[in-house]
Parts: sequence; C-alpha cells; structure tokens
Amino acid sequence: MHEFSVAKRLFDVALRAALENHAERVSEIRLVIGRLSLVNPDQLAFWFRELSKGTVLEEAKLDIEFEEAEVACPSCGYRGPIGLEDRPEYHLVFPTLRCPSCGSKVKVLRGRDCLIKSMKVLRKK
Ligand SMILES: [Zn+2]
Repeated sequence: MHEFSVAKRLFDVALRAALENHAERVSEIRLVIGRLSLVNPDQLAFWFRELSKGTVLEEAKLDIEFEEAEVACPSCGYRGPIGLEDRPEYHLVFPTLRCPSCGSKVKVLRGRDCLIKSMKVLRKK
C-alpha cells in the first residue's frame, strides 16, 4: 500500500493547488518519482485515478517522469548516482545504501521523493 499513501499525498497537494487556482478542471499533471522512492508508477497512477474520480482532477492526463538518485559519501567524498535493483523485498524494507566507491553508508541527496512538478489548470470563466 506504499503507492496508495504516496498517491493520496500527491492527490491532496494537487487538489489544493487546483482549488486555490480556481480550476474548473485540470488537464495535465506532471509527477516526478524518485528512483529510490520504490514507487511503482503504474500503481501510483491507478490510485491517483481512483482518488481523482468526481473531482476537478478526474480528466487530468498523468505524466510521470523519474528522478535519478544522487548520493553523497561522508567517508570518501563520493558524490553521484547509485544503483538500486528493484527487488520485491525492497518494498518491505528499504535497503541500506552503500557507497559504490568505499562501501560506507551514504546520504541520499536526490531521488527519494515523489512530487508534483507542474499542473495545467483550466480556470472558471
Ligand atoms: Zn565512499
């Protein structure tokens, strides 16, 4: 149910933004999914659609892009991408990320979040 809670959070943000902008309807929503967020884009889109039913977001086209991960290593100073296989057990327990250069624990700089990048809103006349 990880995707559901992410979808709910994004949906709440999108709906609030739409209402603040006096939207009659929203035609497009661009989402960014971090590679380390372990979110399945199909499931995320599915839940987002479910939540959107009957709201101004209902007909919005969902556009999903990925954000590559970037980490920093406090031990050796490595800074850059990190690989993460998409293994089923990672969806239950997030793996400890190790520096590809020295094997120490790294800090995630980018790629852990899911967010709304932009929305196209049609306003009420
Ligand atoms: Zn390192």
